[in-house]
Amino acid sequence: MIVNGIEIAQKINYNTQIKLREIKKRTGKVPCLAVIIIGENIASRIYVKNKIKTCENLGIISKKFEYPADVSQSEILNLIYKLNNNKNITGILVQLPLPENLNEFEIVSKISPEKDVDVFNPINLGKVFLGNFDILPCTASGILCIINELGIQIKSKNCVIIGRSNIVGKPIALGLLHKDATVTICHSYTNNLCDICTKADILISACGQRNLVTANMIKPGATVIDVGITRHENKICGDVDFENVVNIAENITPVPGGVGPLTVAYLMKNTLILFEKNKF
Ligand code: NAD
Repeated sequence: MIVNGIEIAQKINYNTQIKLREIKKRTGKVPCLAVIIIGENIASRIYVKNKIKTCENLGIISKKFEYPADVSQSEILNLIYKLNNNKNITGILVQLPLPENLNEFEIVSKISPEKDVDVFNPINLGKVFLGNFDILPCTASGILCIINELGIQIKSKNCVIIGRSNIVGKPIALGLLHKDATVTICHSYTNNLCDICTKADILISACGQRNLVTANMIKPGATVIDVGITRHENKICGDVDFENVVNIAENITPVPGGVGPLTVAYLMKNTLILFEKNKF
């Protein structure tokens, strides 16, 4: 089947909204998400717009902090310091990627672990590594949610992930490993990518390379999850050659309308979880 990510995200958002209303009724409080966006990356601007709009729809306050690409490292660190110490801020999201002049590791390391909604801080990533975490990075949660919605058991499945970034590839690999999958991570230096992919019961591509995943790489009956987002001739594309792969895969996520809406839904859900955990 073709996975309807918008529909699944609506269900998650509905549940988040109900819980938020209930907390507001009981305590008079609502969460506040701080979103930091730096530079002119068009895709990042679209993501941030969607995230802020969904906050509005669900009753989460959002505060956007926008900076030009040449902002100094110290200015961003200073902002994060203030947000960490502001009791009214529930969560802090730094929209990645950052411009090259900034030190991403230092910036994400300074986000308070209690306010780290997309699990960038090394302490929280360490917890994900150990399998002892409160929240997973939003995209990884979204992917696990899709697999769950499809009724697919992860245990003992061969899962192949193309992409090894800290925000998508590695966290989803760990999420699947903690659910007893056999996980293979591929990347730009992997030999025989095609052969490895043909063994996958669940194939996840998170590269940002249009048409990287072709029909000859798919095991008949596999589930194919396309995380990639690129623009081509004014169209948003994934990593998967959807037109041809759809005939071989049992399940496939489209781009747009697949993983993307779930990433946003889990950003909202993670904000709610931190809000509850940190006693509002
Ligand atoms: P990244 O650039 O940090 O990582 C890309 C990974 O792909 C790298 O590990 C690289 O080794 C691998 N790769 C690149 N070319 C390859 C090739 N030819 N063969 C095998 N591996 C290859 O990117 P990221 O932040 O992980 O994001 C990946 C993609 O997912 C991007 O297109 C991004 O826009 C998209 N994304 C989508 C969502 C969503 O919600 N749908 C969320 C985050 C990222």
